[in-house]
Amino acid sequence: KTYDAVEVEALKKADVEHFLHPTSSITRLMERGPKIMAAGKGCKLYDVEGREYIDGTAGLWLSALGHGNAELAEAAREQILTLEYWTAFNEYSTVPTVKLAEKVASMVPIENAHVFLTSGGSETNDTVFKLVRYYFHNKGYKSKEIIISRQRAYHGTTYGALSATKLPNFHEGFEPLLPGFDYVAVPYCYLCPFGKEYPGCGLECALDLERKIQELGPDNVAAFVAEPIMGTGGVFVPPAGYFEKIREICDRYEVLYVDDEVICGFGRTGKLFGILHWEATPDIICLAKAITSGYVPLGAAVVSEKIFDVLKQKGTFPHGYTYSGHPVACAVALKNIEIIERERLWENAARMGGRLLNGIKERNLEAVGEVRGLGLMVGIDLVKDRATKEKFPTPLGARVIEIAYENGLVCRCLAGDIIQLSPPMIITAEEVDRIVEIVCDAIEKAY
Ligand code: PLP
Repeated sequence: KTYDAVEVEALKKADVEHFLHPTSSITRLMERGPKIMAAGKGCKLYDVEGREYIDGTAGLWLSALGHGNAELAEAAREQILTLEYWTAFNEYSTVPTVKLAEKVASMVPIENAHVFLTSGGSETNDTVFKLVRYYFHNKGYKSKEIIISRQRAYHGTTYGALSATKLPNFHEGFEPLLPGFDYVAVPYCYLCPFGKEYPGCGLECALDLERKIQELGPDNVAAFVAEPIMGTGGVFVPPAGYFEKIREICDRYEVLYVDDEVICGFGRTGKLFGILHWEATPDIICLAKAITSGYVPLGAAVVSEKIFDVLKQKGTFPHGYTYSGHPVACAVALKNIEIIERERLWENAARMGGRLLNGIKERNLEAVGEVRGLGLMVGIDLVKDRATKEKFPTPLGARVIEIAYENGLVCRCLAGDIIQLSPPMIITAEEVDRIVEIVCDAIEKAY
């Protein structure tokens, strides 16, 4: 569908006047107007003016199958015509809801898992934080309430999830956050918060959790939450042994280990779940995004048998959303997962992720301090001086993504000077090579 110049102007004007954008610069919107997308097919996006872009971020890290998948559209259509909605409150369920819970439970690295359904990542994390407190309160541990996350973490923006998020711009002005949250170091090896180097560091970042638990008192700590590979904080792949050490510490102090797979889940990192790269079994797994490839909103909190046992004894879990277990979302998720498995898309994510990483490394750009990632989660750390790792006084990232956008690539900038690349999991070698070319040229030009 194309729009003429008058329609485009009207859309942009209405956007600025009436649409309150999530996490956007209102100043930039006022100055330059919005970037309105009109259509998508595969890894390509088209704006209202008909310009074509490669989707270098999979929306917000979410698309496995890319845009315009007809099988997913058909699954949604069929379910809407069969039963568009019924609640899961009061012991009700629907057929796709049951089937999705069963399917997800069969896939995750938790045995006899139980699946609570939500409409996204923030709702999932809020659910989980309530759940861990409910679990310990009902087990008789009245003070085990604190949830520990990590510096630079992003776990969502509702008050519960936001309290575990630790990016300063998301907190400022929104205080007070929820009580009972605390934070430990992030495994950012390139700029280690302890100024150490792996393996001589002795995994100081993992030991920081033990230090924090001891400082707060083990009787007060309920859970530790972490992404397998931190995404929005800057794309940080932890060093070998990190999650094994985390699991050991959580076991030692009876702290639940919550694995936030909202970005990593369903294949993006090259394995079905990010945590499968390490030997650490979580107590709870948080899912969203690629569970439906973003076609409809859905999230899931997956809990182990020991947690369900406490709920069973209590006899109820008084928490839920109108859309928990929404049949259309579940039907789309089931079809989406079927396609991911049929096409073994995690293998493509591993192959294409490697090609993307190496392609950027090979350009050996002056301003690139480090390119890192796993599968289709890639981060480019821009620095002024590669030898000293000194950052640019005025970050280069915004200019890089602007130039890339002008040249037909949507990418994103994290924390000022880390460029995020995370295209859909169906991406081809040719499209990856084009991303490398556009992003590297943009870095050169911006430098
Ligand atoms: N957890 C992680 C790791 C995320 O990256 C995000 C969103 O990007 C969330 C939670 C929040 O998800 P949502 O935006 O669907 O609420």
